Amino acid sequence: MTQKSILDRFPRAQLMSGPTPLDRLDRLSSELGIDLWLKRDDLTGLGFGGNKTRQLEFYLGDAVEQGADTILITGAVQSNFVRSAAAAAAKLGMQSVLQLEERVPDMGEEYYSSGNVLLAKILGAEHMSYPEGEDEAGADAALHARADELKSEGRKPYVIHLGLNHPPLGALGYVAAGQELCRQMPDAEAVIVPSGSGATHGGVLTGMAVEENAASVFGVCVRRDREKQTARMGTVLRKLADLLDIDAVPLQDKINVLDDALSPGYGKMSGMTRAALEKMARTEGIFLDPVYSAKTFAGLLHLVSTGEIQPGQKVVMLHTGGLPALFGYQSALLDDPT
Ligand SMILES: *Cc1c(COP(=O)(O)O)cnc(C)c1O
Repeated sequence: MTQKSILDRFPRAQLMSGPTPLDRLDRLSSELGIDLWLKRDDLTGLGFGGNKTRQLEFYLGDAVEQGADTILITGAVQSNFVRSAAAAAAKLGMQSVLQLEERVPDMGEEYYSSGNVLLAKILGAEHMSYPEGEDEAGADAALHARADELKSEGRKPYVIHLGLNHPPLGALGYVAAGQELCRQMPDAEAVIVPSGSGATHGGVLTGMAVEENAASVFGVCVRRDREKQTARMGTVLRKLADLLDIDAVPLQDKINVLDDALSPGYGKMSGMTRAALEKMARTEGIFLDPVYSAKTFAGLLHLVSTGEIQPGQKVVMLHTGGLPALFGYQSALLDDPT
């Protein structure tokens, strides 16, 4: 199998059009003393864009092949994945069932009504809720219970699992993105990505390794601390390598995660994260989201300040989107900075 065709045997639904832009950030580059580029996966196109469009191309490809007519998925209340899945389902003429988990404590009213929640309502998705936010097995089981009901009504449900005991189909979308980035910029020295489920981080790392690209890939923790995320990435990379039928060992050596921007936890903004979000907007006119991309940029700023990213280096930050969540975090963004 040639390197370029590594993804050919997986069914894929066309949800985005063409490569996303790779833009140089001129003002931030001079301020930080590096050569900084932004890979615009906020602009993947489908239903407010973001990284889940790429991931869904492979889940929905599988769903179409299995003859599914309904997509079921679980996530945080302001999940971009569930919103994007509902948009993808709409585009392919399917129904969707979205399960929203209580994962982020003490949020304002708009967290439950605006942003992604509003968009999913407009998309006409069925909604369920789940009282826990850290129970992947229980959340998946609740989705399967609903899927069984749908089956008994003659529907053909397809569950997108978030747990690690399923093939990481979504990561294939980021293998493609890693390859795309290598074509756009073969000489990048460092690539900074958010590391949540690990599908994005694992996919980029693998796609770039397949292209024999030597850039360091840094994963910025958005949900778990460094130790837990490093272990999780080991599993993700092993499962992805199995799926692609490639050697996992060289990939494992490239795992590099940092959690300096994680505090105070998933879906919560520290002063550091908010400052990063405002800096990008005020220096480049580009919005970041409070849950993922602002933490990623905060992580990048940290790497520059510690010298792990060195002056003059060619650096790419992946903008994974998530912008509708800005409107779910109105209160936190309007508070006086602490
Ligand atoms: C889901 C999400 C992430 C995290 O991606 P993973 O593939 O789950 O690690 C990052 N940014 C945004 C905007 C997201 O919605």
